[in-house]
Amino acid sequence: MIGSVTSPGELRIGIGSDVHRLAEGRPMRIAGLDFPDEPAGPEGHSDGDVVLHAVCDALLSAAGLGDLGSSVGTTDPRWAGSPSDELLADTLRRVRAAGWQVVNVAVQLIGNRPRLGSRRAEAEQGLADRHGITVSVSATTTDGLGLTGRGEGLAAIATALLQR
Ligand code: MG
Repeated sequence: MIGSVTSPGELRIGIGSDVHRLAEGRPMRIAGLDFPDEPAGPEGHSDGDVVLHAVCDALLSAAGLGDLGSSVGTTDPRWAGSPSDELLADTLRRVRAAGWQVVNVAVQLIGNRPRLGSRRAEAEQGLADRHGITVSVSATTTDGLGLTGRGEGLAAIATALLQR
């Protein structure tokens, strides 16, 4: 049947993306994991975890709650230097308070480093344990092209599916 889905079981998808510049000497924390051997890490008001920021934006998008910049306020001093896990926890509080449950989230890191492949399961399990959400994490490169290919930055893109 063609038509919009109505409650109960209303479904909504959302999309989110993020980019951060990489800087020498910054800690590399991506998808909630630390990569202590990386010589550079994302610059940002928080820890610059592009994967978690894209996830947050996808969740807010699906819930119709705007985005991290407008809804949570990423320039808010209370987020300065904070782990992006706190941003995600705050995002999930807002999404759940609006009556939504997370069905699943998919997120892809775009960049040369860190190599996420061998730690993908660890990232997914960590997000499930800390936040109670099912996230599939993947990664790709851009064949040396663009800001991620030149190693100037990292990007991520995410989708989320919510139900209520
Ligand atoms: Mg960000």
